[in-house]
Order: sequence, then structure tokens, then C-alpha cells
Amino acid sequence: MRWPMVILSKKSAGLLILSVMGMLMFSVFWQGSSAVVSHFGGQHVVMLDPGHGGYDPGTITNQGVYEKEINLQIAQKVREMLGPSGIKVLLTRDEDIDYVPNGVKGKQTKKQTDLNRRIEMAKEAQADVFVSLHVNATASGKQSGAESFYHYRSESGKSLAEFIQQELIKITGMNRRIAKPGDFYVINNSSMPAVIVEVGYLSSPKERQKLQQSWYQEQLSRAIAKGIANYFEAHN
Ligand SMILES: [Zn+2]
Repeated sequence: MRWPMVILSKKSAGLLILSVMGMLMFSVFWQGSSAVVSHFGGQHVVMLDPGHGGYDPGTITNQGVYEKEINLQIAQKVREMLGPSGIKVLLTRDEDIDYVPNGVKGKQTKKQTDLNRRIEMAKEAQADVFVSLHVNATASGKQSGAESFYHYRSESGKSLAEFIQQELIKITGMNRRIAKPGDFYVINNSSMPAVIVEVGYLSSPKERQKLQQSWYQEQLSRAIAKGIANYFEAHN
């Protein structure tokens, strides 16, 4: 009688271990996926706008650095980082393109046509917020650091810009600027809270180096993603 019972209990022990392992794996998986789904429940939509693109390079430095490329790289990283939060992230462009149809002439008209399409995309997608990403430049080359701008009459735009800027200034070596009202076409013409984030200055030699590095782009993207998530958390 003893012999078969030992075998049985070994089998049961094995089965028990297997089922405990299975339950643990299931609960880890289940908790993981439910945390992703339940955090924001997929009801928040952000339209990220990598500034410029296509015919319009934005700032170009003597070293051949194109603003439009950095804007897109950062937008794609922000999307990646917001992925697990449940916030729906859309991009006005995911490649090097513009929205100016053939035949549209004139610098100003081309620029406005392009921007109007991006603003329209956010409206069509019923985005809650619009975040346009840029890199700054000045002739002197003395300025550096990130800046966030909002429409002076938009309380929620101001709040969004402040949440983003609060995270950006935590980055080591960053100037401690505050969010400011700004006069920009996209924030003046968006139907939802809109901000412009200038992530740094390509005219600053030191910052230009960092802006091209993925580790620095990741720091900027994490700050922007966190700022957006904090905004939705506060305005739920
Ligand atoms: Zn720009």
C-alpha cells in the first residue's frame, strides 16, 4: 500500500506545482493586461504633430541636421511610451511627408494649407488634445532648453503645456523655463486644447549634439508622454 501512495503523492505534488505555476503566470498576464486596459480605458485621444515634413524641413543646420527628422523621431517615441497607458495616440504624419497638394503656390499659402490639414486631422479623429513637436533655433546660438506654448485664452491648453513643461524641466541640464502663452498658427486655430513643444535649440552646439542622440530623445519623449498622461489624469 505504501509504494503506490508515494507515487501518487509525487504525481499530485507535480500537478500542484504545475497548477500553481499556471495560476501565477495567468495572474501576471491578467494583471498586466488589465492594468493597460483600465488605466485610461481608451477614451483619451492625443494627436501628436511632428512639425514640418516633406517640402518643409523646418530648421536646417550647417551640419545638415533637419528639424523635421528630429520632430518625427520624438513623436514616434512618445507614441511608443504612451502605448501601455491606454491613451490613444495618433500622428499627423508617420513619415517624411507634407499635406500640400500639387499646384498650391506661395510660401505662406503652402504652409497654411499644410497646417490646416493637420488641424483638421485632429478634429476628424476627435482628439482631446493636439501636441505639435518642434525644435527651436536662434541666430545667436546662445539659448538652449525646452519650451512649451499655449493659447493665452485656453485654460486647458495652459494646463497641458504646464504638465508637459513640468516634466521637461526635470531633465538634467535643462533650463527651468515655465510654460508660456504663444502666438502660433496651430494653437490659434485648433478646436481642442493645443500646445507647441519646442524640445530644444538646434542653434546651441551642445544641445544640437544631444538632440541627435536617441538616449536624449528618449528623455524628452518620456517627459512629454508623462506630461500628457498627467494632464488626462487631472482632467478625467
Ligand atoms: Zn518647427
